[in-house]
Amino acid sequence: MVGQAVAAGVTSMIAMGTNLERSRNAVQLAHRHEEVWAGVGHHPLEESEPDLAALRDLAQEERVVVIGEIGLDFEHVGGPSRERQLQLLDALFSLATELNLPVSIHNRGAGNELDAAIARHRDLRGVMHYFALDWDWAETFLRRGFYLSFAGLITRPSRSELREVVKRCPADRFLLETDSPYGNAQKRMGVPNRPAYLLDTAELVAELRGISVEQLADLERSNALALFQKMR
Ligand SMILES: [Zn+2]
Repeated sequence: MVGQAVAAGVTSMIAMGTNLERSRNAVQLAHRHEEVWAGVGHHPLEESEPDLAALRDLAQEERVVVIGEIGLDFEHVGGPSRERQLQLLDALFSLATELNLPVSIHNRGAGNELDAAIARHRDLRGVMHYFALDWDWAETFLRRGFYLSFAGLITRPSRSELREVVKRCPADRFLLETDSPYGNAQKRMGVPNRPAYLLDTAELVAELRGISVEQLADLERSNALALFQKMR
């Protein structure tokens, strides 16, 4: 999968962890492939108890560039309680600030709570992963200094308000992702997503912003290096 991505022009990618075991796998993968970097995190819908001490140790490995995936998911029925999600988020935001790492944030139905949590942690920097909201929400998080990360969702016909955000997002504040194996572009619905398919999103972002894919690649690279500083 890494080779296929590199062949398609995707020169760097981040494998995100959603619990301790998967975070360890991401770090191992990052040690095996120079194109891969790791995120260490605990997803808001993860049922297992977070082991913050172990996450803290792992997050200090040299290939770890971000605390993620973390966040809030208030739309999923039957997941961890809102209170528990918020407690964990504050602890992980503190960890990120302490280790001077950015955060990659998952948000479903929790924009106000996330905005308030970000405001509680000065010096926190990061990205709203799989950004799926309208311009008002985009501005809220841009004002906090956050980046917006666009995925295959922008190719869905019903998502015109999201394409508006793609057009208006400042050039130095957007990122691209696949969220693979999820988040496929419209033309690949029904098959698992892969890092190589980032080009589906990149082509549309370039078209919407009126630049070439090569120009977009340069911007994306400098934005990624500005946020994920350990990738330098
Ligand atoms: Zn997510």
